Amino acid sequence: MEKAVLIVDDDEAIRNAMHEFIQAAGFNAHVANCAEEALDVLADRKFHVVITDIILPGLDGLELTDRIKKKHDVDVIVMTGYSGDYSYEEAISKGASDFVFKPVKFEELLLRLKRVLRERQLTQERNQMLGKLQKLAITDGLTKLYNSRHFYNQMELEIDRHNRYGHPCSLLLLDIDHFKEYNDTYGHLEGDKVLIRIAQIIQSCLRKMDTAYRYGGEEFTIILPETNGVEAEIVAQRIRTSVEAEKFYPEPDQDIKISISIGVTQYHSPEELSTFVNRADKAMYTSKQNGRNRVTMVFVEETA
Ligand code: GH3
Ligand code: MG
Ligand code: MG
Repeated sequence: MEKAVLIVDDDEAIRNAMHEFIQAAGFNAHVANCAEEALDVLADRKFHVVITDIILPGLDGLELTDRIKKKHDVDVIVMTGYSGDYSYEEAISKGASDFVFKPVKFEELLLRLKRVLRERQLTQERNQMLGKLQKLAITDGLTKLYNSRHFYNQMELEIDRHNRYGHPCSLLLLDIDHFKEYNDTYGHLEGDKVLIRIAQIIQSCLRKMDTAYRYGGEEFTIILPETNGVEAEIVAQRIRTSVEAEKFYPEPDQDIKISISIGVTQYHSPEELSTFVNRADKAMYTSKQNGRNRVTMVFVEETA
């Protein structure tokens, strides 16, 4: 994509000469004769770099730089004479990426322009990479749900939020029934497909603010903010019946049903995170003991 460059100078001859040169160098060049006009143009379309004179009628180039950096994701190169009225440090402290002296040597300006664009590109790539790594660190590789490390971090945050605002928060803990048998019969790869599909079903049953995690091998947790135990139980039933309705085909002519057991409980302040999670785990085991493929909700009083 052609990079867009905005040239801001009140001297028409300089403005036009720079416009011609920058355009000839392969950029999409535009001009403005004062800071106010530059801000109008920037509000209308996307630029990659602004090259501005410091001394302008109205707002000066430093003030322009300051405003641009507060509002737009654009690099700024400032130009000034040797007068000493403005310093390099001032321009940089306002967020300028580089600085050139007037009369501007076009070849030098071009080198600086290219360097600024290259650094911009590198910064973008670095930020993208960082974002990917951050996502990877909290994601389960198989199911693409969040992992258990993220579960504990988010749980801490939810409990904090609960303690501050008093909103309810509930937790579901799910475990696949007789999953060892499925693995032993059809193999680990088929088992993995079940984990992936169940993760998708879980996601499809959740609201935007709910988050699902692969807690362990074939166990999942779901944090339901702003949700009491009774409401959470409804969500749990929705997930349980959706899994029950699904058919799995570990072999072409065999459709197999799978079920899950779920434990549900609501956070009770000021209990420890581990107490909360253990209660959900106990509720899940009660579902197992009572015949599997069911949801058990426990209130804090029952286990206290
Ligand atoms: P229950 O109904 O009591 O939960 O029985 P279960 O067989 O599911 O319970 P158990 O804890 O004995 O076995 C869990 C099994 O889950 C063991 C293992 O074969 C399987 N499992 C755990 N993690 C993975 C995984 O990442 N991939 C696959 N394919 N299987 C897994
Ligand atoms: Mg298990
Ligand atoms: Mg199991």
